[in-house]
Amino acid sequence: MKRRTFLSKAIKTGIAGSVISQFPVFNIISKPLKSEKGLGIALVGLGNYATHQLAPALQQTVNCYLAGIVTGKYDKPDEWVEKYQIDDKNVYDYTNIDNVGNNKDIDVVYIVLPNALHAEYTIRGAQAGKHVICEKPMATSAEDCKKMVDSCKKAGKELAIGYRLHYDPYNLEMMRLGQNKVYGKVSQINAGFAFHLRNKEAWRLDKKMAGGGPLMDVGIYALQGSIYTLGMLPKKLKATNTTVDKDFYTDIEGTLEWEMDFGSGIKSNCYTSYEDGYNYLKAHAEEGEFEISPAYSYDGLAGKTPKGPMNFGPFNQQAAQMDAFAKHVLEGKENLVPGEMGWRDMFIIDRIYESAETGREISLKGIPHVLQKV
Ligand code: NAD
Repeated sequence: MKRRTFLSKAIKTGIAGSVISQFPVFNIISKPLKSEKGLGIALVGLGNYATHQLAPALQQTVNCYLAGIVTGKYDKPDEWVEKYQIDDKNVYDYTNIDNVGNNKDIDVVYIVLPNALHAEYTIRGAQAGKHVICEKPMATSAEDCKKMVDSCKKAGKELAIGYRLHYDPYNLEMMRLGQNKVYGKVSQINAGFAFHLRNKEAWRLDKKMAGGGPLMDVGIYALQGSIYTLGMLPKKLKATNTTVDKDFYTDIEGTLEWEMDFGSGIKSNCYTSYEDGYNYLKAHAEEGEFEISPAYSYDGLAGKTPKGPMNFGPFNQQAAQMDAFAKHVLEGKENLVPGEMGWRDMFIIDRIYESAETGREISLKGIPHVLQKV
């Protein structure tokens, strides 16, 4: 039920009478003033991730808040309006999102749509005059990523990718241990992320919507983990499609593995699948191994080092990620996950698919040079 509808019904039925008499009206419809809560974010796409992770995280952020929503035929905007007390004027659909430019409550659009729609909505958001956070994978090709980066630059708007793990304490510890050579030089990374997905209706199994299979969806975390633990960019790679059920996974890969060569004998072996379940990031250094597993989940991460377990306690990755972007926009703090990083990863992913198809080793010459250094 829309807030306005709820209020008029409540007044007619007398519910609001007692509430209003006990509390000022603004307590019923109260939401923090923009100046108190920083940047207003509008979520574009109200599916699983927006519903169960981003919206709840936006109740914990301090530099930004949930100001608006952009919805479509599959979503239930009325529930959102009521639950999060969103102003009716901040509710858009995919056809009128371009009008968001006139809305002063909304500073950022956060694209949480199927992968193939990321490029279009990022560009439309920037052209409407809003900063953009875009979910991973940034797009379905490196070419589209470049267009997105260029469009945001042209519009003078900031762009970040929803890479929440760049703020997660366990993953930051992997970066610190690896990049600072705390246990000596790292020569080998092993990283994998897989979960079972066997639902033909899911857009993730439709190449047109997803751009690819588990590599695009979760393998990207293994790719990222290798790079940020080493603090290096890979120079070449070789990939193999190792799908088990080739009759079922026809459109996209069911399972894929790839090796990235960082030079000086440093390698990373990565695995991803919709036919299996695993979730780890391991580094082999001169003085022992350190690892996290689960490595890429929203919570419940665990890790160990040659000197004992890692223990960082509960942490809201999404709140930290969105607050950091708001600080970037508001205070000029560094954007750790810029569009160029998403472009870099799609550049690698394009070449992983090329290698899996051709069986050839592929050079990564020309890779966008972006690294998060600890
Ligand atoms: P979902 O299917 O649950 O939601 C997709 C949303 O897109 C829905 O609101 C749906 O209405 C809308 N939509 C618009 N056009 C559509 C179409 N043609 N087909 C299907 N849906 C359409 O998906 P999700 O799991 O929320 O994933 C959305 C994006 O978020 C993906 O890019 C995914 O990779 C990313 N994601 C990121 C994380 C993370 O940890 N950073 C986690 C989950 C998902």
